[in-house]
Amino acid sequence: MENSKIWLSSPHMGGNEQNYINKAFEENWIAPLGPNVTGFEEDIRNYLNEDVHIAAVSSGTAALHLALMMIGVKPGDEVLCQSMTFVASANPIRYVGAIPIFVDSEKETLNISPEYLEKAIQSRIKAGKKPKAIIAVHLYGMPYKIDEVHSIAKKYSIPVVEDSAEALGSSYKGQRCGTFGDYSILSFNGNKIITTSGGGALITKNQQLKEKAIFLATQARDNAPYYQHSQIGYNYRMSNISAGIGRGQMEVLDDHVDLRRKMNEFYKNLFDEVKEVKVFYEPEKSYFCNHWLTVIAVDRTYGEEFSSERLRKHLLERNIESRPLWKPMHLQPVFANFPFYGSTISEDAFKKGLCLPSGSNLTDEDKERIAAAIKSFFKYSS
Ligand SMILES: *Cc1c(COP(=O)(O)O)cnc(C)c1O
Repeated sequence: MENSKIWLSSPHMGGNEQNYINKAFEENWIAPLGPNVTGFEEDIRNYLNEDVHIAAVSSGTAALHLALMMIGVKPGDEVLCQSMTFVASANPIRYVGAIPIFVDSEKETLNISPEYLEKAIQSRIKAGKKPKAIIAVHLYGMPYKIDEVHSIAKKYSIPVVEDSAEALGSSYKGQRCGTFGDYSILSFNGNKIITTSGGGALITKNQQLKEKAIFLATQARDNAPYYQHSQIGYNYRMSNISAGIGRGQMEVLDDHVDLRRKMNEFYKNLFDEVKEVKVFYEPEKSYFCNHWLTVIAVDRTYGEEFSSERLRKHLLERNIESRPLWKPMHLQPVFANFPFYGSTISEDAFKKGLCLPSGSNLTDEDKERIAAAIKSFFKYSS
């Protein structure tokens, strides 16, 4: 067992997933619709505990694409987007032919900076183009500065797409993430807090918007006995098999959040004595983070090399996976020519940061191995 791989975040089944899948087989609901899809949507709605409406789709990326289409973003429009994020937050802006305008992070949550967000809006309006949407992300499960970001959005009447792909189970002032945006999205990819093997959800404010989203996600078929189409549609609905996995996963979501939060505690204790390491956690009591991944910043360099990269290699040699933070979008070759508002906050976080193994299925032995590996790197004793 000494050499088995410790993953950053791997699927963790609760046990009941297989039963929902078996039921789908027994009833021959092997399709992108069925009782598991409807049931999974209800489970999510009950969990989020707000007046929201859920459309289960094939991925979080598809949900973001649908959100931008529902807002009516058109080719040549501009969309503001948190620069420090996974590429899937930004790609859908290009799917609809719009222009991403990237915004830097603030230091506390590493999410979109309210200060630079407002500067970007004012600058774009001055240049004659008011942005059509704001994509804000709860990175690694940490809620962004919700009050500030939404009050700016309101001030300029710009809809917010809340990318809650990493934040199911997180909340802010007691309200669950996934319920703050004009549109919100979730992801159930393999490494997220719960998984359907691959899948996502679009969260809307009313039933008509949900129906519109499902219409677009099922090839935009008109109400006719034959196949008639008056607009372009997509094949984005979730499969009834995937939704079965999702139903089983919803039963263990709170346990998984609890276990991931314990991993964050474990790292806080582990790094207590290491001055150059900062473990990220909630800046204040209003925030509740699912700690999908625990993030550290290592403030030390070895010549040209940042110590986060050295630590990553050190862990890998011991068969422990860790990962650099998301490389900001304004530093990505594919987005090099789009505007950016900010300074070097996300860039510095990217250089110093590292995501550590955070899965809800890590064992005590795994934790001992991780602790030993980290201690041998920093050479401190407990
Ligand atoms: C995973 C992720 C997505 C995309 O979700 P998929 O289901 O993989 O398409 C979008 N945004 C963020 C921040 C993510 O982490």
